[in-house]
Amino acid sequence: MGESKLGFEASLAKDVVDAGRCVGCGACVAVCPYECLTLVEGCPSLVKDCKSCGLCSQACPRYNFSHGKMEKFVFGRTRKTEEPFGIYRRLVIAQATDEKTRRVSQDGGVATTLLAYAMEKGYIDIAVVAGVSEEKPFYPIPKFASNLREILECAGTKYTCSPNTLLLAEAGKEVAEVAFVGTPCQIQAVRKMQAAGLTRHTGGLNFVIGLMCSRCFTYEGLMESYIHGEKGVDLSEVKKMNIKGKLLVTTASGVIEMPLAEIKRFHEESCACCGDFSSELADISVGGLGLDGWTLTVIRTKKGEELFSGAEQAGFLLSEPLDEEAKANNLLVRLSEKKRKNAIR
Ligand SMILES: Cc1cc2nc3c(=O)[nH]c(=O)nc-3n(C[C@H](O)[C@H](O)[C@H](O)COP(=O)(O)OP(=O)(O)OC[C@H]3O[C@@H](n4cnc5c(N)ncnc54)[C@H](O)[C@@H]3O)c2cc1C
Ligand code: SF4
Ligand code: SF4
Ligand code: SF4
Repeated sequence: MGESKLGFEASLAKDVVDAGRCVGCGACVAVCPYECLTLVEGCPSLVKDCKSCGLCSQACPRYNFSHGKMEKFVFGRTRKTEEPFGIYRRLVIAQATDEKTRRVSQDGGVATTLLAYAMEKGYIDIAVVAGVSEEKPFYPIPKFASNLREILECAGTKYTCSPNTLLLAEAGKEVAEVAFVGTPCQIQAVRKMQAAGLTRHTGGLNFVIGLMCSRCFTYEGLMESYIHGEKGVDLSEVKKMNIKGKLLVTTASGVIEMPLAEIKRFHEESCACCGDFSSELADISVGGLGLDGWTLTVIRTKKGEELFSGAEQAGFLLSEPLDEEAKANNLLVRLSEKKRKNAIR
């Protein structure tokens, strides 16, 4: 039996889930044509007999994933050693010109603005983003945003896993132009699906916007045990969370600072196998990197350049080139190298 026809038990269950490497992206669930899988506590589990079609292992970013192969697929070449945060065309800091967008967004509101611009121009019909649950405060859930109001409602970072890739099953059913926002592991899943020719799920994808990511946290640990349990914050009062050398939790009463050393114990363990900090396979990557009110933006592909330049020229975004000596640039290089080096294979 060829590797591509391995069933779930012989591939992902054994080498990814049981090995503690599953990042809960949901790609396997999204592509299973027989709807055999569901996510249970962040990992896929069989709910029906597997037909051993092999599609789930073709989509999984933690199963036989070759970064070099994916770079060739996206950029036509592999990264050189002097490209520590991956292949790119332009590196800038940028921010939304719209004050309301900046207010609701995480850093400079670049991700949100690119989606808003793409939708206004008719380049996309829907964006796959992370919203929050109505039942559990600040609990992320994948969402389709199909208008500006919904895009704005989903702005801002949730530091726990939102399996946005799950929605590609639905996106494929709609005849729609789609933008996808996700963490580096999710961007890897999307590229693997595209490279495998899973066009039913990715055929409508126009833009892939990748977030920078050091690690994500468990909801139970970070939100319930720590912020609520230890710090006494009512989670329904939390308006924003950010990490800038410390964890900053904003409520109606102000910003509460919490030391990063106290939250490390709530990291998702499977993130230890992740070597991509800056979403190296995205069209455009965005991160905060200690900046205040600006998003560090790495424009990587031709598609990404067209989208970003269009938004700049239309007055949606302001940008400034980033000096190679700038602190944020050094941090980007350092975090990218450290994450690649320390990833447990
Ligand atoms: C888990 C996580 C860890 C991160 N770690 C770092 C880091 O270490 N260093 C760093 O510089 N930047 C990190 N970021 C990125 C940073 O927080 C901002 O998302 C980025 O700077 C873009 O800012 P913005 O104002 O342009 O984004 P916005 O305009 O606010 O848009 C953010 C977009 O991300 C989507 N989103 C929010 N949370 C999630 C999620 N959990 N999964 C998928 N999509 C989501 C939103 O729906 C929205 O579309 C992290 C993001 C996440 C989700
Ligand atoms: S995609 Fe579904 S049917 Fe195919 S191998 Fe995976 S679980 Fe089995
Ligand atoms: S595709 Fe994602 S959710 Fe499925 S096993 Fe792989 S990492 Fe886990
Ligand atoms: S550290 Fe890696 S695996 Fe964990 S959420 Fe971020 S991109 Fe995904």
